[in-house]
Amino acid sequence: MQKIVDFSKYSSIKIGPKVRANIVNQICDIPKDWLIIGGCNNTLLPPNPPPIAMLGEEFSFIKKDGDFLHVGAATSGGRVLSFARKNNLKGFEILQKLPGLIGGIVKMNAGLKEWEIGKIVKKVRTKSGWIERDKIGFKYRDSGIDELIFEVVFEAKSGFDEELFKMFKNLRKNQPNEPSCGSCFKNPPNDFAGRLLEESGFRGKRIGNVAFSQKHANFLVNLGGGTYDEAVELIELAKDEVFKRFGVRLEEEILVVKKTMI
Ligand SMILES: Cc1cc2nc3c(=O)[nH]c(=O)nc-3n(C[C@H](O)[C@H](O)[C@H](O)COP(=O)(O)OP(=O)(O)OC[C@H]3O[C@@H](n4cnc5c(N)ncnc54)[C@H](O)[C@@H]3O)c2cc1C
Repeated sequence: MQKIVDFSKYSSIKIGPKVRANIVNQICDIPKDWLIIGGCNNTLLPPNPPPIAMLGEEFSFIKKDGDFLHVGAATSGGRVLSFARKNNLKGFEILQKLPGLIGGIVKMNAGLKEWEIGKIVKKVRTKSGWIERDKIGFKYRDSGIDELIFEVVFEAKSGFDEELFKMFKNLRKNQPNEPSCGSCFKNPPNDFAGRLLEESGFRGKRIGNVAFSQKHANFLVNLGGGTYDEAVELIELAKDEVFKRFGVRLEEEILVVKKTMI
């Protein structure tokens, strides 16, 4: 099944083409060259991306089973957070204002400071079968999983932490309101990408209609009508300048999808 998706509306940074996406509604192999997209909150798409795969409604579900929660990978993090809060389940507070679908959130091991989603994952279902947590290589903003994730089982013990939930809400207050993909670069060891960008003069730095935010130097924002080429130019400029000044090679946290050769 295919569906036309306008990524200039669907993606969080509001940049991307209107293309046909392959909708996957059953557990199956997908061709190696297909690009998996979840909520597109961490992905910058070129005007001519490779074929796209997105999970269909079949994978949007939440089922409680004892101390575990089975969640379809196409379920939004926000829906899981509401379920956890309503049912007093701990560990899910991190999903507060963390945009994405569960497949993308787990693939990225998304989180904030020392809290990461990987910490409550029990196992993940891919075409190869179930992968237990200790076989998944969770590390900073990466799970190491290179297959389509269909379902995730979380540990779900009682005790939703309202204080932690409020704290995450407060930590989000410095985030810009313009469309973005969240943090553009990963924090290098023992440092902050935002600090390096700021000291390299990138807070508010703009190319065309894309800029590093005035509010948060590591957020690449679309000021309205920004393009893929503008975003890539600004990212490369920032990497070069930070390397020149500090000898640090910044690594993108966002997935910048390369243009396909036509
Ligand atoms: C305003 C804002 C704030 C943010 N704050 C944070 C934050 O605090 N912490 C943080 O970590 N991130 C943050 N992000 C980034 C984003 O929320 C996370 O990266 C999230 O994991 C993206 O999920 P997604 O479904 O949108 O993924 P997508 O952007 O669709 O995909 C991201 C990656 O996951 C892969 N993927 C997606 N779905 C699947 C699947 N089912 N199976 C296998 N691979 C898959 C894609 O191929 C891609 O490599 C923020 C983003 C925004 C816009």
